[in-house]
Amino acid sequence: MSLLHLLFSVLTLFLSLTFISSSSANSEPASAQTLEIKPEIINPKLPPSPKSLSTSKKFEGSSNLVNLKYHMGPVLSSSPINVYIIWYGRWAAHQQLIIKDFLHSISPTTASATKTVAEWWKTVALYTDQTGANVSRNLLVAGEYSDHRYSQGTHLTRLSVQQVIANAVRSAPFPIDHKNGVYLILTSVDVTMQDFCRAVCGFHYFTFPSLVGYTLPYAWIGNSGKQCPEVCAYPFAVPGYMAGGGPGELRPPNGDVGVDGMISVIGHELAELSSNPLINAWYAGEDPTAPTEIGDLCEGLYGTGGGGGYIGQVMRDREGKTFNMYGKNGRKFLVQWVWSPVLKACSGPNALD
Ligand SMILES: [Zn+2]
Repeated sequence: MSLLHLLFSVLTLFLSLTFISSSSANSEPASAQTLEIKPEIINPKLPPSPKSLSTSKKFEGSSNLVNLKYHMGPVLSSSPINVYIIWYGRWAAHQQLIIKDFLHSISPTTASATKTVAEWWKTVALYTDQTGANVSRNLLVAGEYSDHRYSQGTHLTRLSVQQVIANAVRSAPFPIDHKNGVYLILTSVDVTMQDFCRAVCGFHYFTFPSLVGYTLPYAWIGNSGKQCPEVCAYPFAVPGYMAGGGPGELRPPNGDVGVDGMISVIGHELAELSSNPLINAWYAGEDPTAPTEIGDLCEGLYGTGGGGGYIGQVMRDREGKTFNMYGKNGRKFLVQWVWSPVLKACSGPNALD
C-alpha cells in the first residue's frame, strides 16, 4: 500500500466515523431511548433530619464501640417468613402496589441483577440463633386484611394497635401463623399514633396473649406524608427552616413522598423484627426496654461515604429520582442500610468496595 493510498484510507475512515457519530446523535430523539441509562452517583449533603437531633442512636458507618450482642432468643428462621398486611384506614391501590412490590423484592431472584432489595436482605439473613439457624431469605405476602372502617378510630396507641391485630386474626382469611407469621400494620396518612413523628416512624414488638390470644411478632409503620414527612419521609422532605438557602429534598423513586418514605421504615422494622422478634435476640445496649437494633445503628445511611449530613452515595436516574436499590417490576427504592454482624459496619447492596 502506497503512502498516499494509506493516507487516503485513514482519511476516509475518519470521515465515515465522524459521519456515523454525528448522524446517530442527530437522528435519534432522546425519547427513543428505552434502555436504562446508567444512573449518576450522587452523595448530597442535606439539612439534618429533626429525628437525628432527638436520637443518639446513630453510628454512621462502623464503630468499635457498637456492641451488638446476641441474647439467646429466636430469630425468624422458618421459611418463608409469612407477612400478613393489615391496611388500616384508606389506601389507594397504587400505594399498596408500591409497598407489596417492595416486600416481593426481598426473596432471592434467579436473575443476576445487582444492587437489589434481595441483596440488601442478605445482610439481615446473616443473623443466626443459638442453633445456628439463619434469618430466612424468603419472605411472602401471605395475606391481607383491610381495616378501612378505622375499627379503633383515627388515633392509635401501642396497645390499641394490638386490638387491630386481634380483630384481623379473628376474621378470615387470616390464620394464626405461629411458625412463620409476622403482622404488618400500615396506617394511612390520616391516622395518628402515639409517639408518631416525635419519637418513632415505626416500631415492632409482639402481641400479648391477653389482648390477641397469642404472642405474635408485629410491626407498625405509618404514612407520614401529611403529618411529618421531614421526619419520617426524610430525605424526600427536609426541614423547612433551610428553605431558600440549603439543598432541597430528594425526588422519591415512586413519586409518593409518604409511601416512598415508609418503604425505608418498613425495611428497618422488618430487619429488626427478623433479627429480634421477641426482643431477646440481637440488640446493643444493656436496657431491653430501649434496645438499639440492627436498623437503628444505620438510620439515615443509604450508601458509602455517608455521615455528617451526607446520606451516602446513592443513584439518581434521568428523571431525577433518587434510589439505592432495584426491586421487582422495574421498581426502585431508597432503603437505609443495616448493620452487618460480619463486617461490624453498616452495609448495603450499593456499597462501593
Ligand atoms: Zn429500630
